[in-house]
Amino acid sequence: MPKLYNIKNWTRQNLREWMDEKSKSVSKVQAFRADQVFYWLYQQRVESFAKMLNIGSETRKLLTEHFRISSLVKSDSLKSQDGSVKYRLQLEDNQSIEAVFMPHTSHNTVCVSSQVGCGMGCDFCMTGTMGLVRNLTTAEIIDQVLAVWQDLQEEQNLRNIVFMGMGEPFHNYKNLLQALEILTDEHGFNFSQRRITVSTSGLLPKIRRFGKEKIKANLAISLNGVTDEVRSKLMPINNAYNLEKLIGVCREFPLESRRRITFEYILIRDLTDSIADARGLIRLLHGLKFKVNLIPFNSTTAGKYLAPYPEQARKFQKYLLDHGVVAPLRISKGQDIQGACGQLVVSTTA
Ligand code: SF4
Repeated sequence: MPKLYNIKNWTRQNLREWMDEKSKSVSKVQAFRADQVFYWLYQQRVESFAKMLNIGSETRKLLTEHFRISSLVKSDSLKSQDGSVKYRLQLEDNQSIEAVFMPHTSHNTVCVSSQVGCGMGCDFCMTGTMGLVRNLTTAEIIDQVLAVWQDLQEEQNLRNIVFMGMGEPFHNYKNLLQALEILTDEHGFNFSQRRITVSTSGLLPKIRRFGKEKIKANLAISLNGVTDEVRSKLMPINNAYNLEKLIGVCREFPLESRRRITFEYILIRDLTDSIADARGLIRLLHGLKFKVNLIPFNSTTAGKYLAPYPEQARKFQKYLLDHGVVAPLRISKGQDIQGACGQLVVSTTA
């Protein structure tokens, strides 16, 4: 029996080309059926070719002979007091990843992982302690969205996707781009490009490349320090691409109208949360179109650093707001379930 392709690793263009080729030898198979397959997979979210009702039996047979439809097993889920749900998802090789559903009054967000573990080694991050195990396939990225979707009530919807889970998305560039293509495909999920955000620790060559892609997802940079000394302590990547280089590339990043770069900034007591840091942040980002997401470090999960005093976090935010900077203070969704930023970590073997 030939090995079956996982159809969720394929973009619609890939599938169209494959079907076009097959149409030369198999009657009644046509390339446009790829559009219908996408509709069934990602808009109806069916899990078998037999349920793709308007696709002829010859085509369904062909699909069944060559493809399979994957799904992820939910091995655990934890619900937070704020309604967030952290899912532990089991992959086919028994590795595990995590995805988080975050409800909001006006919209819902899913936070997805791009790798098992992460090789960037950020000092404040639980995922970083795992090291990099492997990249996720396109299908494994897509299947996280579908796994979360399965549990939504009928009236609920997903509007935003953030690549802020486990991993450095730009280290898995090809699969990330394919996933973005499927997520934004009008025959696929049809998510708005404006509603997808990819967060990087600052891989400059990939930021440049990302700016040239035809899919214009939002860019977020995990900043976390306003001097090289502090940022290098927290994020080793700063030794390769320091702040001057990073901000230089951000200045060149092509932004569509009404878009801006998001900078994530973790507030750590006595390290990154002083008013002098706030002043430095404004100076550093001056001239960019940006906003800052302030994330109070959650010190319950790691011994090295401390959470900021709530009053200090508010002072920091006020300083930015008073200087015209959009700076939501993110009371991390799901803190009580360790589903907040930098807290996703699972055992590398299930
Ligand atoms: S903060 Fe992001 S890039 Fe850094 S180790 Fe954690 S997952 Fe990786």
